Amino acid sequence: MFSQLVEAVGAEHVVAGDDPSVADLCADEALGVPPGKPAYVVCPGDRDEVVAVVRTARAAGASVTARGAGTGLSGAATPDDGAVLVVFARMDRVLEIDPVDGVAVVQPGVALEVLDAAAGEHGLTYPVHPGEQSASLGGTVATNAGGMRAVRYGVTRAHVLGLEAVLADGSLVRTGGRLAKLSTGYDLTQLLVGSEGTLALVTEVVVRLHPALPARGTVLAPFSSAEEVTAAVGRVVGAGLAPTVCEYLDGPTMRAICTNAGLSLGLPEELLDADHLLVELAGRRQERVDEDAEELADVLSALGASEVFDLPAGAARRLVEAREKAFWAVKAAGADEIVDLVVPRSAMAAFLARARAAGDAHDARVLGCGHAGDGNVHLAVFQPDPERLAQTLHDVFAAGIALGGAVSGEHGVGRAKAHHLAELGDPVALDVLRRVRAALDPEGTLNPGCSIR
Ligand SMILES: Cc1cc2nc3c(=O)[nH]c(=O)nc-3n(C[C@H](O)[C@H](O)[C@H](O)COP(=O)(O)OP(=O)(O)OC[C@H]3O[C@@H](n4cnc5c(N)ncnc54)[C@H](O)[C@@H]3O)c2cc1C
Repeated sequence: MFSQLVEAVGAEHVVAGDDPSVADLCADEALGVPPGKPAYVVCPGDRDEVVAVVRTARAAGASVTARGAGTGLSGAATPDDGAVLVVFARMDRVLEIDPVDGVAVVQPGVALEVLDAAAGEHGLTYPVHPGEQSASLGGTVATNAGGMRAVRYGVTRAHVLGLEAVLADGSLVRTGGRLAKLSTGYDLTQLLVGSEGTLALVTEVVVRLHPALPARGTVLAPFSSAEEVTAAVGRVVGAGLAPTVCEYLDGPTMRAICTNAGLSLGLPEELLDADHLLVELAGRRQERVDEDAEELADVLSALGASEVFDLPAGAARRLVEAREKAFWAVKAAGADEIVDLVVPRSAMAAFLARARAAGDAHDARVLGCGHAGDGNVHLAVFQPDPERLAQTLHDVFAAGIALGGAVSGEHGVGRAKAHHLAELGDPVALDVLRRVRAALDPEGTLNPGCSIR
């Protein structure tokens, strides 16, 4: 296989999987998934090279795992042993920004921050904003990434209009296009979004852009319980203020992210330990945003907030950034697993209570924050004993499913949650998905250890 891979991408872009120079590429950021041992790591430069790599691997009976920036949190980019790991770092060009159609055409290795900056030159923005802006377009399409701004703009799925991708047999497929709407049969674009490199390798993406909104207003409201915070969320979202951020943070998480970021908000000590709602508004004109922020403060006070802080722009930006980096703060604090479960907004309080009870039952500490506007709860679970950790996670996932939730709201299934999905997902839906996967990839070439199994 080595000589064919060299022929496909050039000798300087093929490295043996056990070479120390590629050790960092063999895992993503998932806490509980050990690195894989790929046979080779390859770095194709264009779609034809991706086609040649997939055909070569398939003919040799090797599996193929795609890797974007490796910031994923569910082990989806961790290769199976003996796999060919395809790294998209060289396919990193923004091919076009089209302000008339309001779209960008990009290669999969483009980082979100690079696309957003390129869109910004035209007064536009690409608002998919997971905590890591170094994440790639290919990776975010493959995980259907969300992030804080999804409460206003929707997740990646809402932005992907078209794809070019290489299927498991090496054929190149084009789906969708620069189209504002489409009703032409099954939606292959959306089937590939969120498929975690198990159905195709994405080689080009057409995404929807939005007008950039320069004015901001940010409000922080401590409450006396998580129940009060989550009860307020529906009212804030329903008030028509279209927040760009609507985040829940419990006291320990608030303290941890402020410490981690060296951020002092000047809050009284006792308020720092409260349950918080952080809401950001955005608009074209600062006066209007300020007016909305005042109305928001009134709504939050009426809903029982102990105080409402209208944060100055600098502090607001640093707090939002610190929240985005919450993963690093809880990792540094020794978290053993991160849960990214989604439930209906109305079930968030019940879910948090049941998750904490599950933690108590297994002697685990369960802390949380989350994209409250989307019902997407991020829990850090602290329990170093693997068996008790597994029991805690099982009970937490089961509690979320029982409340109408799903095992992942945005990080994906990956390797970390494949067994939870297999156990707790709807059996008929899973059977359909397995058949879809087998139809597109009968030999199990693409990321076999990941997602639907
Ligand atoms: C601090 C921090 C905060 C985060 N916050 C959020 C958040 O708020 N919201 C959120 O959604 N995520 C969040 N994440 C997770 C992560 O950023 C996202 O999952 C992101 O989508 C991963 O992109 P990536 O380029 O790093 O992909 P990778 O981790 O490299 O890969 C992810 C998946 O995409 C597949 N893939 C990569 N490229 C391609 C391709 N070209 N074709 C087909 N499949 C491909 C891989 O095989 C894998 O299955 C966070 C991560 C960190 C470290």
